[in-house]
Amino acid sequence: MDHFLYKNGALHAEDVAISEIAASVGTPFYVYSTATFQRHFKVFEEALAGMDHLICYAMKANSNMAVLKTLAAMGAGMDVVSMGEYLRAKAAGVSGDKIVFSGVGKTREEMRVALTGGIRQFNVESEPEMRLLNEVALDLGVVAPITVRVNPDVDAKTHAKIATGKSENKFGIPIAKARAVYAEAAAMEGIEVVGIDVHIGSQLTDLEPYRLAYQKVAELTAELRADGHNIRRLDLGGGLGIPYARSNEAPPLPMDYGQVIRETLGDLECEIEIEPGRLIAGNSGILVTSVIYNKEGEGRDFLIVDAAMNDLIRPAMYEAHHDIIPVIEPALGVEPAPVDIVGPVCESGDTFAKQRDMPAVQDGEMIAFRSAGAYGAVMASEYNSRPLIPEVMVKDDQFAVIRARPTIDEMINRDTLPEWL
Ligand SMILES: *Cc1c(COP(=O)(O)O)cnc(C)c1O
Repeated sequence: MDHFLYKNGALHAEDVAISEIAASVGTPFYVYSTATFQRHFKVFEEALAGMDHLICYAMKANSNMAVLKTLAAMGAGMDVVSMGEYLRAKAAGVSGDKIVFSGVGKTREEMRVALTGGIRQFNVESEPEMRLLNEVALDLGVVAPITVRVNPDVDAKTHAKIATGKSENKFGIPIAKARAVYAEAAAMEGIEVVGIDVHIGSQLTDLEPYRLAYQKVAELTAELRADGHNIRRLDLGGGLGIPYARSNEAPPLPMDYGQVIRETLGDLECEIEIEPGRLIAGNSGILVTSVIYNKEGEGRDFLIVDAAMNDLIRPAMYEAHHDIIPVIEPALGVEPAPVDIVGPVCESGDTFAKQRDMPAVQDGEMIAFRSAGAYGAVMASEYNSRPLIPEVMVKDDQFAVIRARPTIDEMINRDTLPEWL
């Protein structure tokens, strides 16, 4: 459920008309709903109720400061994958002991910054990373808390570009090697083992891969404890999918996901961490764009809109589906007709939807891409010298720009010329 609904025939974000925001900031733009972010966070809190837990929002899904502050105010921790994200989390007021550091390529500088500023744990993904972390920690005279991210060789049954838990993926340490790696960790003075980490992929629409992976984590917990390691924390990753096509998708509910955690890991007396990104942010945002032209092609009609693949890359990159709706509610009985919805960028990949049934939308009218709150604005670029589009946050009947559109002059002036020009 989200808070983007028609009221009196016009699409609203909570109590604000989309047309009012458009009149203020111009299209295209992203708009987020505070209440939806809060609701999704609460749903996870309820799913894990009764278990010692921390929800670390995977901020790569949407790292706008207003989003981070909204979630931090509810007690969220953060899952970060870069120094930039770490410093953003800190700037949003999240304390280091609620930040976990993930990622396959952490650098010396990133380790130093996080160890100095405070960190809950590093989720270590390789032996060389662990050795470097040990060295950096010893240099600073501190001890780095770690989990080792294990790769359970489980098929997450999701898009190949976002599956991370098979042995051919670059992520984590093969679970069969885990005991040897933990033994090496235990011998390092700058490293303290606190638990185990696993993350098998994104946009999972089935709980079985989770169950298989978490059963393997339970077995490993027993083995590592028998080896003398103090395993007290289990980081279970993120990845729970959302319904991008509302008419025919019903991914598992967080409550049922919580039940899988309870059943597989509930009696191990470990603190549970989860790292949801998409489920918290995805349906909390939409992208609003104007139709520039209705173009009639040979046997195919096009809606050319003012948003493009540089603003929302998911359709081009993951063949992703986004539900697309007109901002003015279509009258009852209007027959939809198939159109291709495309952006202005000079690439055939700049196609948001092919042969999508849409009610007629006139030039100058607006449409909205649903489920655009995660992996939307954060993946945008300025390709074709198109400015990053603004982000707007709504709360009840108020809205605020939370990242402004840069002017073209600002973009041009970011480049610097060499002396010889
Ligand atoms: C991307 C990622 C997540 C979040 O995945 P979602 O599908 O957005 O929930 C969590 N943990 C790690 C390590 C990730 O790389």
